[in-house]
Amino acid sequence: MKTLLVLLFFCTSVAYAVESDLTLTNGKYVNLSAGSQYLQNNQFGIVDVLSLPQNHWQTNELSNFNLGYTNQTYWVKVNFSLSSDQHAYLIEIAYPVLDSLKLYLMDNDDVLSYAKLGDKQHFDERLIKHHNFILPINKDISGPLTLFIQAESTSALQLPIRLWEQKEFYETDQLNTLFLGIYFGLMSIMVIYNIFMYLSLKDETFLYYVVYVSAIIAFYFSLSGLAFRYLWQGSLWWNDQSILFFLVAAVLAGTFFIIKLLELRKNSLILYNGCLFIIGMGVCLLFASMYFTYGTMIRVIILYASIACSWGVITRTIKLFEGTHFSTYYSLAWNAALCGGLILAANKLNFLPNNWFTEHALTIGTSIEVACLSFAMAERINSERRKRFVAQARSMTEIRKANQRLETEVMNRTRELQTAYDKLKHISRIDELTQVFNRRSLNDALNTECMRAKRFGHSVSLLMIDIDHFKKINDTYGHQCGDKCIAHIADMLKKTCTRAGDIVARYGGEEFCILLPECNEGDAFELAELIRKHTEASFVRFENTVIKLTVSIGIATRWGIDLEPHELVKQSDMALYFAKQHGRNQVSLGSVFDT
Ligand code: GH3
Ligand code: MG
Ligand code: MG
Repeated sequence: MKTLLVLLFFCTSVAYAVESDLTLTNGKYVNLSAGSQYLQNNQFGIVDVLSLPQNHWQTNELSNFNLGYTNQTYWVKVNFSLSSDQHAYLIEIAYPVLDSLKLYLMDNDDVLSYAKLGDKQHFDERLIKHHNFILPINKDISGPLTLFIQAESTSALQLPIRLWEQKEFYETDQLNTLFLGIYFGLMSIMVIYNIFMYLSLKDETFLYYVVYVSAIIAFYFSLSGLAFRYLWQGSLWWNDQSILFFLVAAVLAGTFFIIKLLELRKNSLILYNGCLFIIGMGVCLLFASMYFTYGTMIRVIILYASIACSWGVITRTIKLFEGTHFSTYYSLAWNAALCGGLILAANKLNFLPNNWFTEHALTIGTSIEVACLSFAMAERINSERRKRFVAQARSMTEIRKANQRLETEVMNRTRELQTAYDKLKHISRIDELTQVFNRRSLNDALNTECMRAKRFGHSVSLLMIDIDHFKKINDTYGHQCGDKCIAHIADMLKKTCTRAGDIVARYGGEEFCILLPECNEGDAFELAELIRKHTEASFVRFENTVIKLTVSIGIATRWGIDLEPHELVKQSDMALYFAKQHGRNQVSLGSVFDT
């Protein structure tokens, strides 16, 4: 990029060196600045300079005429000759920000043409309405002529004096206008496009970018004299101030833009504070430009803009953003603008010749910059999208893991709940002391078995068993011993009832029931007798005392439509009562009460 710039610069310089023979060629102008003579005097008028001897004049050895920033008045003299070809010519001073110019076209002591120009007079007063300063030359004028210019300006005193054939001038002017039109058009498209980007994405970076590019457009519109021509023809004060204002505004918006784009607050506090300092200085300069002259302020502000631009480049040199497309675009943008700015500054300070390229260096530089910054923003959006994508993928994995953990946790909890539920169910169905079914379980089983027996036509038997004289055991040996005896009987009942489906339950106190599905009275009696005999044969040992127990048993057996749970209980109870009445330690059948 830089090599290309240097090459372009040399090519254009050579073109101008060839033109110094003052011959007009098609599509070109004669550069009258080369070989011009000048002197500094604040008092002289045209009459004074006409009579000055030749040795008072200094010759300009360069191809361009540039005295840099000065507040003195200068006289410039150029000798040239026009052929008598009856063509109209004109002289253009191609630097639109000069304050005051008086142009005298002389044939010896006769004034052939005169114009008072400069941006310190209303635009309408110009003879030719053009943003540069034009002195028309009548087509009758020919032969050796001298042009005197009295020039004074608070801006850089540059006098690109060009002699044009009128026709060529307007043809070339159309091309220049087209070039400027393309430039402002491109920049305006960037502004409009980024306004829409801001409206849709609500990212402030775009807004700062829009203000930045708008300020550059406005600055260049002022600097090129177009704003004076089209926008504020009579506002002489503002015409100077606008250049200062828009330059500072561009730096301010550009700095805010860098802060946002590079997220300096987060990424680098030093660079961030540097930017804040530049912003603070910019605001002070804006106020100062209201009170100080343009001549003073323009120098300070150019220095300020150079510092700010260099700060933009420094942000690049720190390793922070290297290695990404984003940083490539960003550094290309800033380098382009910096080169443009430096070439323009070098041109204004007379280090570089004044030619098409040096004049348009800033235009080209800012165009490249604006385009590259736009790419940089697009790349930033892209990289943020990539980051978001990675973060989303990461959070999806996290969510999946969390879900797995949750599932395991839920499974464990469910298992624990199931265990607790089973335990509760067991507790609600089993008698704690004897570990046989409790009364509730017995009732449920009775209902179920009675219904089943009715359906299949089976009989069901129920044994009601009561420990004889149990109260005495409690009274004699205490309740602990009584508990042991109850547990012993329950144990014995479980061991005796080995048939699958038989249900041993504690009915209450020292009374037990055995539900025998599909069991007739005879089998029930046999089992009851076995129980009675086992009890009689067994004993309980409590504190070295052997306790003997007996039981009385009542049996109820029913089937068919008579098979009702409460009937079974009632009949077995009656049979038990009968056994008690008849001496205990015996089995009695409930069927005797049916008759
Ligand atoms: P019978 O031969 O007529 O059946 O006389 P019994 O003394 O066995 O009958 P009774 O109904 O008069 O007494 C039953 C006793 O059982 C009364 C009560 O204190 C006792 N008892 C009931 N449940 C328990 C228990 O869970 N543990 C203990 N140790 N005693 C109990
Ligand atoms: Mg009892
Ligand atoms: Mg009893």
